[in-house]
Amino acid sequence: AETILEVKDLQVQFPTEDGLVNAVNGVSYDVKLGQTLAIVGESGSGKSVSSMAVMGLHDMKRTRMSGSILLDGQELVGASQQTFQKIRSNSVAMIFQDPQSSLHPFKKIGAQIAEAYLVHHKVSKSVAEKRAVEMLDRVGIPNPQRRAKQYPHEFSGGMRQRAMIALGLVNDPRLLIADEPTTALDVTVQAQILDLLNDLQKEFGSAIIMITHDLAVVAEVSDKVLVMYAGRGVEYGTTREVLADPRHPYTWGLLSSVPSLSSDPSETLNPVRGNPPSLLNLPKGCSFNPRCDFAERVPGERCFTELPEFTEVPGEPGRRTRCHLAEPAEIFATEVAPKLG
Ligand code: SF4
Ligand code: MG
Repeated sequence: AETILEVKDLQVQFPTEDGLVNAVNGVSYDVKLGQTLAIVGESGSGKSVSSMAVMGLHDMKRTRMSGSILLDGQELVGASQQTFQKIRSNSVAMIFQDPQSSLHPFKKIGAQIAEAYLVHHKVSKSVAEKRAVEMLDRVGIPNPQRRAKQYPHEFSGGMRQRAMIALGLVNDPRLLIADEPTTALDVTVQAQILDLLNDLQKEFGSAIIMITHDLAVVAEVSDKVLVMYAGRGVEYGTTREVLADPRHPYTWGLLSSVPSLSSDPSETLNPVRGNPPSLLNLPKGCSFNPRCDFAERVPGERCFTELPEFTEVPGEPGRRTRCHLAEPAEIFATEVAPKLG
């Protein structure tokens, strides 16, 4: 499949009153048409910032970016506001956890979708309105004709999420960025929305970046996974590889915090203990060292002095990890996996 987005060693810094924050500090990934990349991490890991940079949704005057973001071959690091505007309207759309942030509260749902369509299509208003109803129908909203004339507050949470997806997809984006799109929904509706995104992707052939803290969502929808910690990529590979054969202690911690029906809760590992570090004051060496149970295995105190690089795993092209451990696959298989149940 065709690569639509290629991010290389992305760095995003914001100045704050307390100093320069390295919100993203070395992230690399690529996304192909028809595929879904999940970006996983705790809040503050840089997972949202790293994809908002693709949309130009940061304060461009204050933010410093370096590295490379190639969207359809076009470099976005250092691109102008106009370029980002064009991208947001032509090729990339974003949906958020909170539909309120995209849907205007005082405008009818159908009119909002029609409006977005009219920005890019020279058609009459009635054609755009018809397109809006079609989109509502396509995302599984019953009675779309009637629903199009309603306001966001007349929709349930799940229906609003569907309406936002319709709004995001009305101009056929090549890349859809979904930031925790199901986090606020109950489990049943969550599953319906994820199914919907899967179906729409098959139909439209677009690429999706799914930002989430939930490994169950990852397993459900993604082809590839990037795990982020403290602004950096720490593990990257196909979903199968990362879930079945993870190489980074942080990913092991995330896996152990997913409840498993078969396991006895008293035998599971603790979820990742402690809290993520402040981005203003990262620990020396590996940022994960205060929470890592394996740092003592690495000779020469390297975990406390030397930042591991996000290197490709030897013999496994496209697979990356950021850890000094010499035999992570073995440690996972023999020590960690048995406790996961
Ligand atoms: Fe743990 Fe060291 Fe690997 Fe960091 S580099 S994750 S501290 S073992
Ligand atoms: Mg976020």
